[in-house]
Amino acid sequence: MKLPVLEDLLPLDGRRVLLRADFNVPLEDGRITDDFRIRAALPTINWLLDHGAHVTACSHLGRPKGKPDPRYSTAPVRARLAELAPGVELMENLRFDPGEEADAPEFVARLVAGQDAYVDDAFGAVHRAHASIVGPPRTLPSAAGRLLQHEVEVLSEMREDPKRPFVAVLGGAKVSDKIGVIDALMKVVDSLAIGGGMCFTFLAAQGATIGDSLFELDQVDVCRRLLDEGTAIHLPEDIVGLGADGTVATYGTNLPPGVKGLDIGPGTAAAFADLVAEARTVFWNGPMGLFEDDRFAAGTRTVADAVAASRAFTVVGGGDSAAALAEFGLADDVDHVSTGGGASLEFLELGDLPGLEALRQAAARGA
Ligand code: ADP
Ligand code: MG
Repeated sequence: MKLPVLEDLLPLDGRRVLLRADFNVPLEDGRITDDFRIRAALPTINWLLDHGAHVTACSHLGRPKGKPDPRYSTAPVRARLAELAPGVELMENLRFDPGEEADAPEFVARLVAGQDAYVDDAFGAVHRAHASIVGPPRTLPSAAGRLLQHEVEVLSEMREDPKRPFVAVLGGAKVSDKIGVIDALMKVVDSLAIGGGMCFTFLAAQGATIGDSLFELDQVDVCRRLLDEGTAIHLPEDIVGLGADGTVATYGTNLPPGVKGLDIGPGTAAAFADLVAEARTVFWNGPMGLFEDDRFAAGTRTVADAVAASRAFTVVGGGDSAAALAEFGLADDVDHVSTGGGASLEFLELGDLPGLEALRQAAARGA
């Protein structure tokens, strides 16, 4: 069954639509520092307004732990939204009520009261079975907004019908954080390049000495299994490490005791960039090193440059990878930056998410 989209809700003239958006914007002293997420919702909002709907939006903002907390009020978002889309209402932070995360029936009832239809455009939250995600589709005609629709199309194509060769570059801190997505990607990619903190458990599984680098003893067997699975896995051949005395140097794959590996070396970065250059589909998640520190940002930058320059279909997922890309000014040079870190990885892993399932069930009921 296909995901229901905005057109499936017509006619909407004079109808009231509850829009679940992702307005989880960065705030500093109660001011919005980047309104990207509000602007990103405008295609859906404007489509609804153009078709005569009255729109009430709702979102979570930060982690207020189920009770009102003025630091996480949606008031600044409401003010910005009033400038960008006059006439659209915005509820207070959904997570001010414990019923949101618990999917409590009373809370769902309050959300849907007086509404005629529901639109979910919060890709970053569709992997959570929260009240505002799975509740309204139980009773209201429901559809995916444009952002959600696009995310699902892009990630589905990558998962089911990628142009080959398909190369995934994975980094970030831990193997254990990413094992589900690594397993899923192993089934569809032609090769996997692994950098970041997680590469050291793989290197250790191959018998390398890794000094003081990040290491997960309980993931060694998992890494060994993955290395034996047959899909090509590319690991670093050189590493930039920080010594106990503060010196930064480039090593081979064996690090001396006391040295912490914090970036892939220039040889590895070039090799990964070549893989990306030869691919027709690229998925990148996770920085190649501790890119927040300039001394260990070169590997991540080289990979980001390669992804940006590639003529392949390029998708970047993950909060920190997207932040790195934005910091390098390259966000516009990839085909798709997924707005939902956890959600995109979980979708690649599972091929479905609770919020999508809820929308399809609403459509099945309506049919
Ligand atoms: P994403 O949000 O893109 O999915 P992760 O959250 O998995 O990425 O990982 C990002 C973090 O991993 C960054 O803070 C980065 O500094 C850290 N990291 C990357 N390489 C290393 C390393 N070699 N040692 C320690 N931390 C690392
Ligand atoms: Mg992260």
